[in-house]
Amino acid sequence: METKPVRVGIYARISEDRDGQQTATARQLKDAREFAERKGWIVVDEFEDIDTSAFKTNVKRPEFLRMLDSLRVGEIDGVLVWKLDRLTRQQRDLARVMEACEVHKAFVASVSEPIDTHENYGQFVAELLVAQARMESANTSARQRRKAQEMREEGRPPSVGRRCFGYALDLSMIVPEEAALLRDARDSLLAGESLRGVVQEWNVRGVRTTRGAEWRTQYLSRLLASPTLCAEREHEGLRYPGTWPAIFTPNDTERLRRLFAGHAGAGRKRSPTVNLLSGVLRCGACGEGMYGSRTSDGKRRYVCHKRPGSPACGSLTTMAVPVEEAVAELVFAAVDGEALARALHERTDHDDGLAGLVRDDEAALKLLSMDYYDSHVITRDEFFAAREPLVKRLEANRERLSRRDRGGLLHRFTGSSDVLRNAWTNGNLEFRRAIVGGLLERVELLPASKKGRSPFDVGRVRPRWRY
Ligand SMILES: [Zn+2]
Repeated sequence: METKPVRVGIYARISEDRDGQQTATARQLKDAREFAERKGWIVVDEFEDIDTSAFKTNVKRPEFLRMLDSLRVGEIDGVLVWKLDRLTRQQRDLARVMEACEVHKAFVASVSEPIDTHENYGQFVAELLVAQARMESANTSARQRRKAQEMREEGRPPSVGRRCFGYALDLSMIVPEEAALLRDARDSLLAGESLRGVVQEWNVRGVRTTRGAEWRTQYLSRLLASPTLCAEREHEGLRYPGTWPAIFTPNDTERLRRLFAGHAGAGRKRSPTVNLLSGVLRCGACGEGMYGSRTSDGKRRYVCHKRPGSPACGSLTTMAVPVEEAVAELVFAAVDGEALARALHERTDHDDGLAGLVRDDEAALKLLSMDYYDSHVITRDEFFAAREPLVKRLEANRERLSRRDRGGLLHRFTGSSDVLRNAWTNGNLEFRRAIVGGLLERVELLPASKKGRSPFDVGRVRPRWRY
């Protein structure tokens, strides 16, 4: 007696379309075809969904839907899968399959699991497997999160699909000409140039993003403020130092962020309202820092702020403008002075070796990372033992270099206070603070000799120069 041959459709799915996964699908299909042959089934159709996750409910699986239709109209007598989790990870989807099978009493069979939905027991197993697959998928993402955290703690570079301007795709190397552009942009911005100006200049010069597009202010500010450029990663507010070479110091990144935050906060207006001398001005009576505040009618002032847990005396208050003007005059005079020119000259000579040291240490750090991550010739403990002193020295030297950069800003103005006066008037507060911070370690304000509304006595301002 002749029986009708059993016609089946093979359903295959891979969760992610990565290298090598295509071959996994090919293997699934091959296994399923052989399985069908052993059973004497005829494979009349193959359904293949790629790059969708059966765990997510909202992703489209066109072949899955076509397979359901095939079952409903009776084109196939059964569906064969390599593993049930390829077919569905949702009880609801399983129900859709079962419902489609119901019409013509079709079945679901698995190559690697004991499933035959002709029997109640098989259906029970199928449901159980779906529940299990869901749990595994949840575990996978917990595992992925843990792995990601581990990689951040090890200082591994973030894996990104697109090359970051300034770096090779895997962040292992700096692209020197792009890094030079970034450093120039940093210097220009901190010297008071506008972001728009830098963007225009780059576009005019033919500099393009790594996608080949023209620059826009949002792209550039996002890039310049990115932790990647100072070889750090940020996650949930924490910072993780990385093992890839840095283009900026963390201090650079911080300053640029403050600059951008100021612009954003001021709604595209010129400069953020910070005080020129906060962090620099000290109370001459107690030696503690003086802070910017305002009088009741909104005028800026600096106060020695008495507060719990601080030795601040709270006895000194001064209006901001006169003391700032006095400090500016001291700065202009210093720029014309011989001592500064001499000091800057020495500093430059001295620091040429420093830049070389930083480059050597960066190279050593890179080799060390390769030994650990790529060649596996050293252990994790050895890696961290060798890395720590290297990173410490590197950071200290980079910090020194960045101070030299501030010296570089001063270089433009030495011997020409009229140029500085002009830049001072036109530049923003960040620029003025950079100049003051580059020249002055601190400024001490002595208490007034007599009370009253007498004009500000510039003799009360005692500068402590950096050179
Ligand atoms: Zn005080």
